[in-house]
This record gives sequence, C-alpha cells and structure tokens, in this order.
Amino acid sequence: MVSYGESREVTDEAADARPRPPRTAPRPGCPFCLIVCGRAPATVLRAWPDALAIRPRHGGVTAGHVLVIPRVHVADVAEDPVVSAATMLRAAELAAEAGDCNVITSRGPAATQTVRHLHLHLVPRAEGDGLLLPWTAARPAER
Ligand SMILES: [Zn+2]
Repeated sequence: MVSYGESREVTDEAADARPRPPRTAPRPGCPFCLIVCGRAPATVLRAWPDALAIRPRHGGVTAGHVLVIPRVHVADVAEDPVVSAATMLRAAELAAEAGDCNVITSRGPAATQTVRHLHLHLVPRAEGDGLLLPWTAARPAER
C-alpha cells in the first residue's frame, strides 16, 4: 500500500494540516471549498499553503488514491493555469512517493468531472490491477 507519510485527521494539534481560508471566497455549495475552509470533514493526507491532498470520501478506486485540490476555488484545469500548475506540482510531489500511478483531472461533465472545483486524482497503479482508464473505449469508435 502506498503511504504518503503520516495520515491523520485534521485536529487542533495538527496545525500545519489545518485547513486555512482560501485567498478567495469559498464558492457556495462547493464541497471542496467547504473542506478547505474546515466546514466539512475530510481526511487530509498532506497540506501545503496552496493545496490539500485528501482521501476521496468513498475511499478511492485503489489503495492510496488521493485528491489534490487547490485552496482557492477554480472550477477546472482551464480556469486559472497558475493555480492548475501549482496544484499539479503538489500532485507530482506525491506521485514521486507513489511509484506507478495515474495523475488525472477532468474538465466538464462530458469529461466525467463531477465536482466543479479543480481536483487531481492520484491513483497508484500495480501491474495487472485491472483498473481501466475512464476513456478506455468499450468498442472501437465508429467513423
Ligand atoms: Zn470550490
């Protein structure tokens, strides 16, 4: 199993991992903004000044699956390239610890984005794990 260092719930003792207010106002109804502001529970695996790494609410698709989210609300990878790049940098730091993995983000419902707050999935992979990428075609596309 992949370990990203000490995993812990956010508590008063874990001041370095405590969610901090984002630089911009949280977007009403955004579940990731609520986590960033500390108004919704999450298992924070790593905290940086500009991003958090959290465990997906339902555990993820493989052991070690994490979401890397910016502390500032941006809807998707295209909205603010600087924020996207900074978030990717944080995901890359975790990827260096994960070994083989996918680092994936989606933009828009047609691309399977379900939460409109930029998030990168880091999915540790193992040979023969049977996990198919979401864009694996069930059959060849018709032309
Ligand atoms: Zn948000």
